[in-house]
Amino acid sequence: VRFYAVFGSKDLKIDGVKDVIAVASGKGGVGKSTTAVNLAVALANKCQLKVGLLDADVYGPSVPIMMNIHQKPEVTEDMKMVPIENHGVKCMSMGFLVPENSPIVWRAPMVMSALRKMSKDVDWGNLDILVIDMPPGTGDAQLTTTQTLQLSGAVIVSTPQDVALIDARRGIAMFSKVSVPILGLIENMSCFVCPHCSEPSFIFGKGGTRRTATEMGLKVIGEIPLEMDIRKGSDDGVPVVISAPDSIVSKAYSEVAVNV
Ligand code: ADP
Repeated sequence: VRFYAVFGSKDLKIDGVKDVIAVASGKGGVGKSTTAVNLAVALANKCQLKVGLLDADVYGPSVPIMMNIHQKPEVTEDMKMVPIENHGVKCMSMGFLVPENSPIVWRAPMVMSALRKMSKDVDWGNLDILVIDMPPGTGDAQLTTTQTLQLSGAVIVSTPQDVALIDARRGIAMFSKVSVPILGLIENMSCFVCPHCSEPSFIFGKGGTRRTATEMGLKVIGEIPLEMDIRKGSDDGVPVVISAPDSIVSKAYSEVAVNV
C-alpha cells in the first residue's frame, strides 16, 4: 500500500500530452503490440493527430522492429530523450536502449523506474494521444504502470479463444480496480479468409469476444482478421496501415482509431 502511495497516481502527468491510452492484453501473443502500432499509425495518418507510441513492454519490446527504428535516441540539454519518429509517430522503447539480443531481467521496481524515464523524461512535444503498448498480463509491473501513468482509457486486445478471453477479463478487472475506463475490446485474429475461395474460417472460435463484451457491459471496437499482410508489415517495419492503406484490414484499424 505504501509503495503505491509513494508512486501515487497524480505524479506522472506527462507534459504536453493530452490523452494517454493503454493497449493491453491478459496474455502474450494475441496481437497487442501489432494492434498498438497500427492504432498509433492510423491515429496519426488517418485521423491527422499528433501521436506518440510508448513501448512499455519492457521485457519483450516489439516497437523497434515493427516501426523499423534501430538507432538510439538523442538527449536534449535538459537531459530528456528525444523520441524517434517514423510513419508519423514519435516512438520510445526500451529496445532503443539495450542491444537487441540481450535479455532484460528486472524486478518490478526497476521496470517502474525505466517506465518513468521512458514516459516522463522524454521530449514528446505536444501530443494529442500517447498510445502505450502495455506489458502483457496483470502482474506488479502492469498494475503499477496502470496506476502511475495517468491513463485516459484502455483498449483490451484478445483473440476469440476462451483461454485468451479468460485472461482478458483479468486485464479488464485490473483497470476497473484503478478506475481506468475501458474504451472497448478488440478481437484480433477473429477469422481467416481463404485467399482462394474467400471462405472465412474461425480458427480461434467465433463470437467469444462479443459475448464477453456483452456480459461485461463493454463494446467491441474492432475485429481484425488473421491476415498475412499484417504479419508481414510488422516484420518488415512498415505497418499494414502504411503498406496497404486501402486494404480491408487497414480500414478495420482506421475504424478502431475513430472509435478510440
Ligand atoms: P503480443 O503483443 O500480444 O505478444 P504481437 O503483436 O507480437 O502479440 O503478435 C504476435 C504474432 O502474431 C506476431 O508475429 C504478429 O506479427 C502476429 N499477428 C498479430 N496479429 C495478427 C493478425 N491479425 N494477422 C496476422 N498475424 C498477426
